[in-house]
Amino acid sequence: SSKPKYRGRFAPSPTGPLHLGSLYTALASFLQAKSQQGEWLLRIDDVDPFRTATDSSDRILRTLEAFGLHWDGPILYQSEQFEVYRAALERLDAQGLLYACTCSRKDLAALSDANAHTSIYPGFCRSKKNQPRPDHHALRILVKDTPITFEDALQGVQTQNLAKDVGDFVVFRRDRVYAYHLATVLDDSAQGITEVVRGVDLLDSTPRQVYLQQLLDLPTPAYAHVPILVNRSGLKLSKQTYADPVDVKNASSTLVDLLTLMNQDPPADLRSAHTSEILDWAIHNWDLSRLSAVRTIPLNL
Ligand code: GLU
Ligand code: ZN
Repeated sequence: SSKPKYRGRFAPSPTGPLHLGSLYTALASFLQAKSQQGEWLLRIDDVDPFRTATDSSDRILRTLEAFGLHWDGPILYQSEQFEVYRAALERLDAQGLLYACTCSRKDLAALSDANAHTSIYPGFCRSKKNQPRPDHHALRILVKDTPITFEDALQGVQTQNLAKDVGDFVVFRRDRVYAYHLATVLDDSAQGITEVVRGVDLLDSTPRQVYLQQLLDLPTPAYAHVPILVNRSGLKLSKQTYADPVDVKNASSTLVDLLTLMNQDPPADLRSAHTSEILDWAIHNWDLSRLSAVRTIPLNL
């Protein structure tokens, strides 16, 4: 057929070891790819040298292997893509879409306090667009006052107006780090990703990414935002919330637990099976829609 081969990906940030929440996302994206005879690629989100922990990527790779989650093709490291990111910024700049922002963290914090739960950037620095750029600045991209709509495989139709809901957003940080949104759209395109399966905490950033894809003539992949695991306090499992690293010694029972959390109804006797056997079962019985459109899954940890 003429349909391109399915390509999914998992893109961990190497800020620490994998915890159950990141393994959940890894497993969901793996099964979604493999159940469609697709490829599952790996990307290491080490764009930010200030947040990259030494040895963390190698440890993540070893953990994925211990769970039988073997990736296809070469790994893409964001730290090796800076030339691609720079060229894209130049292209956006040549279209007159970027401006220097010198707002301090404090200026912006005062702003989000003032409008409680939102932090829409009101374009303070936009008026200085045509002045020479100062030494220390972030680059923001002008957004449009039009709705951006996409259909998420789990969360349904999503619409956002970037001007009203987000404001001009940062594509290059003041500390000279390329922004995640820019990096991720370029990388998804470089890896030929046809569907992005990731945590629902990134649902609201997808319209920013679709916007960048449109400006840079990149294809928009399909999206499926899966639930995130949260602790007793309702906080996402992460390094910041002190989530425990996953224990590779109990790989089989951990996989079965995750499949249970994903409502895939794994048979109990799989618990004593080898990881490859569990994954085989899961690939053949995979039903993404059973993840249901919830945002969070509370764990009693
Ligand atoms: N590295 C990001 C994270 O761990 C994921 C980025 C993505 O999937 O687009 O939250
Ligand atoms: Zn500013």
